[in-house]
Parts: sequence; structure tokens; C-alpha cells
Amino acid sequence: MSLPPSPGARAPGGGPAMPIEADLHLHSYHSDGVHAPSEVVAMAVRAGLKGMALTDHDTVDGLAEAREAAPAGFEVIPASELSSVWRGREIHLLAYDVDPRNPRFLGLLGSLKEGRRLRAERMVARLNRLGVPVSMQEVIDIAQAGAAAPGASIGRPHIADAIIRHGAAADIDDAFVRYLRRGQPAWVPKISLPVGDAVRVVHEMGGAIVVAHPALNLSEPELESLATMGLDGIEVWHPKHQDDQRRRLLEIAGRLGLVATGGSDFHGAGRNRHLLASAGVSLETIDLLRQRARAARV
Ligand code: AMP
Ligand code: FE
Ligand code: FE
Ligand code: ZN
Repeated sequence: MSLPPSPGARAPGGGPAMPIEADLHLHSYHSDGVHAPSEVVAMAVRAGLKGMALTDHDTVDGLAEAREAAPAGFEVIPASELSSVWRGREIHLLAYDVDPRNPRFLGLLGSLKEGRRLRAERMVARLNRLGVPVSMQEVIDIAQAGAAAPGASIGRPHIADAIIRHGAAADIDDAFVRYLRRGQPAWVPKISLPVGDAVRVVHEMGGAIVVAHPALNLSEPELESLATMGLDGIEVWHPKHQDDQRRRLLEIAGRLGLVATGGSDFHGAGRNRHLLASAGVSLETIDLLRQRARAARV
């Protein structure tokens, strides 16, 4: 299969090749972001972008609102960031051009979301044993804050907010360092999809699958080995990737014939410090992902 070169392949110094036109990694309050999907779209439009992907963790609940909020000519790609596991490692996979009505996909998301609820219950129990009196209802209320419909994808940032409210941590970073990071006393592993299953279901419904922020938790040999599981792309432009890491990732993507993608991983104030559109790609990258998806469709 021969593919046109990724636009990123022309990037000087690992930075974006051209002005950022699309931010392909954004969260709303349907998972651990703080804004409504329509607000995220409005912010992306105000930032001068031409397209974006809403990538809430393990849910597609915000996609209809995001698409409806998009002005003519502004592309909103239906997407989700899937919790996955590979060689015992927690991996985030960005699924693009997903079908939010696909029953098998919805079934997988449903079990991931339920797994998140059960995990949060176990983490709350651990916190209580550690003398932090957070309750599950509080965590649910925080996760639901603002969301119009019930069923937000509960995550550690919501538990962190509850810990902060009880004065047991100064801020979200402190809550992660003291309690929530892997290996810390309130940490419980998350129910995750094996990478092979995630790749299969996304390809079956005509989508593309990309490993998110790989420089944060994978060595280069691990990334190359993971890529052979059927990935379509590598997230190269992410605020937490340093310039030299971006250069190396771009080289790996080029060598393996994978699409180089990027986005800001914006969640909103109080969650992380990433600004919307602080990382991204050209619109052409979306076409490249779609070409890959068509080629991979089973
Ligand atoms: P979960 O999906 O429940 O395991 O929570 C992971 C989420 O927590 C990530 O998507 C980030 O939004 C956030 N996160 C992870 N590590 C940290 C950290 N050290 N400080 C603040 N937020 C974090
Ligand atoms: Fe998150
Ligand atoms: Fe992530
Ligand atoms: Zn993310």
C-alpha cells in the first residue's frame, strides 16, 4: 500500500509543518474535561482552526452535540480516546472516524465506562481507609457537573477534585502524586481493552486508530512493536512531547508508513495546563487518516 507522505514529514525541527489547522485531541465534560462539547467547538473556531476531533475517554456521548455546534465548513471528526492495555502497560488509543451508533463499539464503551465506575468505588474505599472522607456520590456529582445527561466517564481527575475539596491535597498534581498515580496508595488499575480488540473494532467500523502521547510511557522499541498491532498513526504533536521526542516520533512514523497526528489534549482549567490548539496538524492529516482507515477496513 503506498500512501502520500504525512504533512508532518516536512516539519522543521519537529514542530508543526504549517499553521495548526486542526486539533485532534480534545476533551469535554463527558469525560474529564470541564467544557460542554459545544463550548469546545466554539473555542476551536475562535482559535482560528478549521477542524477538530472530540476525544473523550471511553465515550462518544459528546459527539452529536459537537457535530451540531460545528459551523459550515468546520470539520468535527467523531472520535474517542480508548483505555487500552498492552504488555501490562496502560496505553491510550485515539480512535478517529468512529461510528457512534455501532453496537459492538457501544458495547465495549459501556463495559469500559462501567469498569471506570467500579474502579472509582474501589479508589474511594482506599481513600477512606487512608483517612480521606470522600464519597462515591461526591465523585459522581463532580463527574456529572455541567453534563446534561447522566453517564459521564468517571476518571481520576474527578476523584482528585473530591480529595482537594476535603483539603487532603493542594491541587490536582498533588492529588495524583500523593494518592492517585500508579503505585500510590489509592491507585487501582483500570479495566482496559486489549490493543488487538480496540484495533479490530475500530477498523471494522471504518475508523483509524492512533497511539496517544507515546513518548510519555513507551520506549522507541516498544512503540515500534506496538505499531505492528495494526496502528494507523502516532500522535507526534502533543504538548508533553519535547522537540527532540517529536523529531524522533516523526522519523518513526515516516519509517513505518504511519500518519503523524497531533492535538493539545485540552481538558480546561484546573485539569491540565494544555491550551486548546497548542498542538495540532494540517487538515490534510485528516484525509490521510481516512485513507488509512479505508485501506484497513475488514
Ligand atoms: P483515568 O483515565 O481515570 O486513569 O485518569 C487519567 C487522566 O487523568 C488523564 O487523562 C489526565 O487527564 C489526568 N492525569 C493523569 N495524570 C495526571 C497528573 N499527574 N496530574 C493531573 N492530571 C493527570
Ligand atoms: Fe484526561
Ligand atoms: Fe491520554
Ligand atoms: Zn487525552
